[in-house]
Amino acid sequence: MHELSLAQELARRSAEMAEGRRVSVVQARCSAGVDREELASVFPVAVAGTAELEGAALQLEGVAARLECSCGFAGDLAADQVFGHIGLCPGCGCPGELSGGLELVGLLFAGPAAGGAGAPTSGAVSAPECLALGPHAGQRRTGRAG
Ligand SMILES: [Zn+2]
Repeated sequence: MHELSLAQELARRSAEMAEGRRVSVVQARCSAGVDREELASVFPVAVAGTAELEGAALQLEGVAARLECSCGFAGDLAADQVFGHIGLCPGCGCPGELSGGLELVGLLFAGPAAGGAGAPTSGAVSAPECLALGPHAGQRRTGRAG
């Protein structure tokens, strides 16, 4: 499955960037050609068994799909010009393979990291360890729900 290999590649790069630190959130950008729901659902599979990434949440930001065509067109496509990972060139109307796909943007680390900005909250509440840790485990809602 295409999305699984993307997720595995993302996990590999994230693990390299983490350098042994434990990651709580992986932030990535994906173009319109990527099925974001599919990607989010296979991400836990891709990170399973990795010390740095297991249980990490995935934050996806959608960006326009980019196409470089042999006719000379190079630019962003509208959503209705994108079909899977194939896009229709607005210049000549020919289908072409989209570039871009998935791009690692940043990592948020768990634990007492320098900065002390508090735990980041993500829109996706898929972490299985989000149980109450104690009577004062406040539920901060600083993030905007998507
Ligand atoms: Zn073209």
